[in-house]
Amino acid sequence: MYNLTDINTIKRVMSRHGVTFSKALGQNFIIDPEVCPLIVEKSGVTQEDGVLEIGPGVGVLTQEIAKKAKKLVALELDTRLIPVLGDTLEDFSNVEVINADVMKTDLERLFAESFSDCENIHVIANLPYYITSPIIMMLLESRLPVKAITVMVQKEAGERLCADVGSRDAGAVSVAVNYYSVAEELFFVPRESFMPSPNVDSEVIKLKVREKPEFTPTDEEYFFRVVKAAFSQRRKTAANGLSSGLGMSKDKIFAALENSGLATNVRAEKLTMEQLYTLSEELYKMR
Ligand code: SAM
Repeated sequence: MYNLTDINTIKRVMSRHGVTFSKALGQNFIIDPEVCPLIVEKSGVTQEDGVLEIGPGVGVLTQEIAKKAKKLVALELDTRLIPVLGDTLEDFSNVEVINADVMKTDLERLFAESFSDCENIHVIANLPYYITSPIIMMLLESRLPVKAITVMVQKEAGERLCADVGSRDAGAVSVAVNYYSVAEELFFVPRESFMPSPNVDSEVIKLKVREKPEFTPTDEEYFFRVVKAAFSQRRKTAANGLSSGLGMSKDKIFAALENSGLATNVRAEKLTMEQLYTLSEELYKMR
């Protein structure tokens, strides 16, 4: 089996296929031998489960997932890496590599075709950092039958995604993540663990997908419009952002805040999930 945490092995297999690293596609490959086994262990994947991997690169994480899962489908956007993966994953019969963009793939169909005999479906990845949040939001919003999403992300992005709603670090994206999942920061990974080494550190996070949200808004789309508007002006009060974002008068916004038991000068990052929900229901009645 290829030792893909060995720099010379990576270089050899890439140069055999005439491939160089693509910065534009966020290609930073894991070279710390402890990281991939730990990601797979923490993901909780079992021999009965199917896994979608996004961006296998040269296959370092893919190999570790393949050892533990029943089936693995890996989507890689970079066409040049497909023959490389053909070599590095030759020992595994439970892996399918597809040359595709995860954002343009019909995942519902892919899951039905590939994982119908699997107990649970997991997403595991060292994500390309240039589209971390869009990928995570797409996975959560599409309500795919996924048990958990265990992914490596840039450290700052991980902190924001997993921030407690109602805490200083929270933003609209933390609310969305919390709405669909229970988020946990698992472990820190320094920049030296990658080749080429990026300018930022990383961390692995796990999003356990909720069967249903804790609160069910009358209109989910409106709830997220409220959240986006409330957090839109970070240094100002929620009322400011809500008024401009929803195109509603300040009087109406103040009334909705008061009906929700909130101060009219409250900041969005102080609001809990329940308070955001209550506020959005009040605003919905007044729209
Ligand atoms: N999994 C490998 C590892 O950990 O060493 C590589 C991770 S690297 C950070 C991200 C990978 O995602 C690259 O191989 C890149 O080509 C691929 N990628 C980038 N954008 C993608 C997309 N939209 N869909 C699928 N793969 C993508």
